[in-house]
Amino acid sequence: MKLLFLSTSVGSLGSGLGGGVELTLKNIALAMMHRGHQVRVVAPSGSVLAGIPLTEITGNLQIPAQTQNRKAPICLPDNSVLANMWEYARQVQNDYDLILNFAYDWLPFYLTPFFSRPVAHLVSMASVTAAMDRIIQQTIARFPVQVAFHSRAQAATFGLADSCRCLGNAIDLCEYQFCKNPTPNLAWIGRIAPEKALEDAVAAAQISGISLRIFGKLQDRDYWEKICRDYPNAPMEYVGFLPTHELQQQLRQCRALVMTPRWVEAFGNVAIEALACGVPVIAYRRGGPAEIVRDGETGFLVEPDSVTGLVEAIKRLNEIDRDSCRRQAEEEYSLWAMGDRTEAWFRDILGIGIE
Ligand code: UDP
Repeated sequence: MKLLFLSTSVGSLGSGLGGGVELTLKNIALAMMHRGHQVRVVAPSGSVLAGIPLTEITGNLQIPAQTQNRKAPICLPDNSVLANMWEYARQVQNDYDLILNFAYDWLPFYLTPFFSRPVAHLVSMASVTAAMDRIIQQTIARFPVQVAFHSRAQAATFGLADSCRCLGNAIDLCEYQFCKNPTPNLAWIGRIAPEKALEDAVAAAQISGISLRIFGKLQDRDYWEKICRDYPNAPMEYVGFLPTHELQQQLRQCRALVMTPRWVEAFGNVAIEALACGVPVIAYRRGGPAEIVRDGETGFLVEPDSVTGLVEAIKRLNEIDRDSCRRQAEEEYSLWAMGDRTEAWFRDILGIGIE
């Protein structure tokens, strides 16, 4: 197949502004290329994507949907990179069999019926705005095979839990090294933004008296400064936003990953990255992480928004065998497994059987 992948328009690839979509796009592209398919990625200028053909498009970035309220109208800036990317896709569409959209934006969904080539959508977030809900529901009603989600919990936020295709997600397991004997430190990884509720992990670290190492893009500086003011004595260290190979070197040495999303996390790439290093995951029982973590076996699922629950789970970490964490990642989240699921989806869209 000849595949054209359109990235998120909220940031260039490698910037961290795109969150998990950046890694997801890279891994699906690699999985498809390993199978002999041709892939080209279209992304905002300044993107870095080693080993994958890339077309960079200039223009102004989109505002991330998760920073907006439910009734927010659809907005595009002047000289919108999103619009420019889709104009490029329109011009070259006949060179491809299928176009895959990774952007959580209204425009690509709206444009779907106007393209002569099939446009597939991998929805990267749960329901955030009414306008996005409507266009996703309309697209799925008209093109039921062309929309996929990462988790059932995510699809349920659009009222689509039963009828949807769930792809899960995957990582390149070779890039993550198992670590049997960690330091006592805890890890927290993600965009530093209110929907990720870093403050709960900081509070749990303070009560437990265990250091929390924080990795991720500082997306909302005011939010971060408030956490620093509210917890001046918490045992925490902001390490920065690291590329995958450096991130995993640090993550693997941690005793557990603490995941505290306030919103319904569509999937939670960081959970499978931790498991791949043998790091147990303590997460709220909500959204994607609740479908990933095997409670009591590869981590703990905790009452949502309960700092006490996090603290209790931290106390029980010695019950978890780190080998079973790595094993789960190998069984469920390999690129090969993701390639199978994605290829089956594309074949359904194109109406072709297995060769
Ligand atoms: N990440 C990274 N370096 C860091 C911290 C995070 O590359 O220092 C990446 C991480 O690998 C993951 C993404 O940021 O792919 C966060 O994705 P996730 O699905 O957990 O959350 P999202 O940001 O999409 O809400």
